[in-house]
Amino acid sequence: MDPKALAALGELLGDRLRTSLETRICYSYDATGKRFLPDAVAHPVDAEEVRRIVLLANQHRFPVVPRGAGSGFSGGSLPVHGGVVLSTERMDRIVAIDTENLYAVVEPGVVTETLKEEARRRGLFYPPDPASLKFSTIGGNIAECSGGMCAVKYGVTRDYVLGLEAVLGTGELVRTGVATVKGVVGYDLTRMLVGSEGTLGIVTRATLRLVPLPETAATMLALFSGNREAARAVNAVVAARVTPSAMELMDRTAIDCVLAVVPIPLPEGTGSALLLEVDGPAPSVARDAERLAEVCRSCGAIEVRVASDARGREELWKMRRSISPGLRRLAPVKMNEDIVVPRSRLADMFDFLAGLSARKRVRIVNFGHAGDGNIHVNVMTSGTDADETRRAEEAVEEVFRKTVEVGGTISGEHGIGIAKAPFLEMEVGPLGVSVMKRLKECFDPNGILNPGKIFLSEAAVRP
Ligand SMILES: Cc1cc2nc3c(=O)[nH]c(=O)nc-3n(C[C@H](O)[C@H](O)[C@H](O)COP(=O)(O)OP(=O)(O)OC[C@H]3O[C@@H](n4cnc5c(N)ncnc54)[C@H](O)[C@@H]3O)c2cc1C
Repeated sequence: MDPKALAALGELLGDRLRTSLETRICYSYDATGKRFLPDAVAHPVDAEEVRRIVLLANQHRFPVVPRGAGSGFSGGSLPVHGGVVLSTERMDRIVAIDTENLYAVVEPGVVTETLKEEARRRGLFYPPDPASLKFSTIGGNIAECSGGMCAVKYGVTRDYVLGLEAVLGTGELVRTGVATVKGVVGYDLTRMLVGSEGTLGIVTRATLRLVPLPETAATMLALFSGNREAARAVNAVVAARVTPSAMELMDRTAIDCVLAVVPIPLPEGTGSALLLEVDGPAPSVARDAERLAEVCRSCGAIEVRVASDARGREELWKMRRSISPGLRRLAPVKMNEDIVVPRSRLADMFDFLAGLSARKRVRIVNFGHAGDGNIHVNVMTSGTDADETRRAEEAVEEVFRKTVEVGGTISGEHGIGIAKAPFLEMEVGPLGVSVMKRLKECFDPNGILNPGKIFLSEAAVRP
């Protein structure tokens, strides 16, 4: 990076511009495990500083890569062309929680769980619940349109963003959306920015919708002989017109991963598990839990366990939460995909994945938000065998092709970043890519913001 640019940034930020190798290494990776060293790390404290950093980037032509907690699974926060990583860590204030109009105004560096907890204390609920909620930030959640377990009933981050304040690639500060229940004035720039992976604007403030906190909840674990039976139950639950607040599926290998971490007694012949939750007023929770247990049994569940008290529910959730630590014991490298298929095609997709695993001789572990048709397909490798890695990469490409063929999408919540950039066109087609690139030009004509993301051929900042 041009020393003049670094000097100008230093003048603006003082010791909040960090250039030591140690700091740069700390901000060089995300959950993909890939590494790209930035030239500097900036810690702005407000929108004005963000704006001035982006103006300097236009003047000196360096990339600016927004970063929350760096927990992304698609490489979104990696400075692939160097430049400045702009960390939102110091923009972490909950500005307001309006309990009359049911919204919160927050800065982007607020950790998701902090907002959820503050809302809960007021009898309110901010539903988006990525499993990373203890460390991921609202800015990252918005940029990736994160989902979670309760998306099946409550939707994803997009459904809770009423309005945004963001610095565009030009350095202009734009305010989008509303703080009201309704609003339809002009183009929906808010939705445009949600899920744009830090390539169109840097979110500096968000107005987020809150809903009343559900009164109570019940959790169920239904055990089936195989994925096909569990997938049938998912569709039967939907047909029964009960909307669970979570419907998570684990295949047999995922269950084995769990058992390697926590010894949970399971009946013989368990080949697949569904974890379901219902929430709402107490009488309807009891009625819905009974109905769901009945539906699972009618679909061949070997056993259904129901828990209504906090301890019992926690015991059941422990199973779902133990998958990731268990996966780490299975193999050191995981290619973690997050495809979504129409729910009616879940059973076919599981059959396809079993065949693919055998054909490519790679271990594939499947679990995820079955209620949304969202499967986390984890292709596990040693990372030391080049032939195995090649077979795993071919398997991932086949998974994407099959997903698009059955009418699904290659990413439900992790975004494209660098990980899925080679497959963008497979889903949206050449015209889709072209329109997206034209929009990018409009928001960020010099290609300052997060270059190298989403589009395969996206070059570094324009000269
Ligand atoms: C253990 C684990 C579990 C996970 N579980 C889930 C899950 O259940 N559901 C799910 O959806 N994801 C999950 N993720 C992925 C990840 O946590 C989410 O994508 C999360 O939203 C990223 O937030 P972050 O603050 O870490 O963002 P980062 O990783 O720092 O950044 C992600 C993207 O957002 C951009 N960005 C960050 N801040 C801003 C901003 N202020 N303005 C504009 N762009 C910005 C970055 O440039 C990048 O493109 C998980 C990750 C891990 C490690």
